[in-house]
Amino acid sequence: MKELALGRIRVTRVVESEGPTSPRYLLPDATREALVPHHGWLAPHFYNPETDKMNMSVHSFIVRTPHHTMLVDTCIGNDKRRKAPHWNMRNGPFLADLARAGVQPEEVDLVVCTHLHVDHVGWNTRLEDGRWVPTFPNARYIMAEQEYEHWRQSQEGDAPEIMRDSVMPVIEAGKALLVASDYAIEDGIRFEPTPGHTPGHCSIHLISGGKEGVITGDLAHHPVQYYENAWVARPSLDREQDMRTRRKFCETYADRDVLILGTHFAFPTVGRIVQAGDSFKFMV
Ligand SMILES: [Zn+2]
Repeated sequence: MKELALGRIRVTRVVESEGPTSPRYLLPDATREALVPHHGWLAPHFYNPETDKMNMSVHSFIVRTPHHTMLVDTCIGNDKRRKAPHWNMRNGPFLADLARAGVQPEEVDLVVCTHLHVDHVGWNTRLEDGRWVPTFPNARYIMAEQEYEHWRQSQEGDAPEIMRDSVMPVIEAGKALLVASDYAIEDGIRFEPTPGHTPGHCSIHLISGGKEGVITGDLAHHPVQYYENAWVARPSLDREQDMRTRRKFCETYADRDVLILGTHFAFPTVGRIVQAGDSFKFMV
C-alpha cells in the first residue's frame, strides 16, 4: 500500500515478511475444495493461482498524526528464540526498512499492540549487550490490561518466552501503559475491543476529517474470513467469540466508507467490507 491519508492521520506499512502461505497452516477449514469458490475475488492479491497458496504478510503500521508517531504492532523481531523455525533467531532489516519509511526508533513516541502474540510484539525490544531493551526508547507502549493479565499467567506454547523477551522489559523499564480495551489513545484514535483471537484483542479505530479506518489486528488473518466468518485461525483461543466478533465487525462496517487495514493482509492491504448475499467480501 502507498501512504494512506485519513484526514490528518497518515498510515504507512512496514513489511517484515510477505509471501505465499499454505492456507491450512493457519486456517484448518481452508481446504483446497473450500477455497475454490473464493478464488475469483481473492486473486491476484490474496490468493495466487499459480502456487495455489494464500498471500499473507507480517507488517507494522506507522500511524502519523499532528502530535504523534505511532507504531501499531511490532512484528516478529530479531534474535528471538521461537518454536516456529521461520520465526526463530531472525536477522531481518526491519529497522532499516522503518528508517526508509522515514522513521528512526527515537522518533516513535507511541507503540500500540493489538494483542500480545509473537508476531505483534517482537520489535518491542531488541538485544543490546545480551539484554533485551525497548527498541523505541522514547515511546510509551500501550496494551490492553486484560491482554497483559492473560499472557502474564499463561504457560501456553512460547508465551513465557515471548513475555520474558518482548513484554516484560518494557514493563520493567516503566514504559508500558496498560489500558482498558476501549481506551482513547488520542483525538480520533482509540482501541476498539475485538476479543476472541485473544481475550484482550483490540482493533485500532481511526477517524479524522470525516475519514474513517480500522486496523484490525488478527480479527481476520486473511480476507477470506470476512466471507467465511466461521473459519477460525489455529491460534485463536475462544473460537465461538472469535467467530461472533468477526461477524459483528462485518455487520458494523459493511457497505460503509470505512477503510479496513488488515494486519496480515498482503499488498495492497487496505479495502472495504461489502455485503455479499448472507455474508461479506473484502474489496480493494
Ligand atoms: Zn498475527
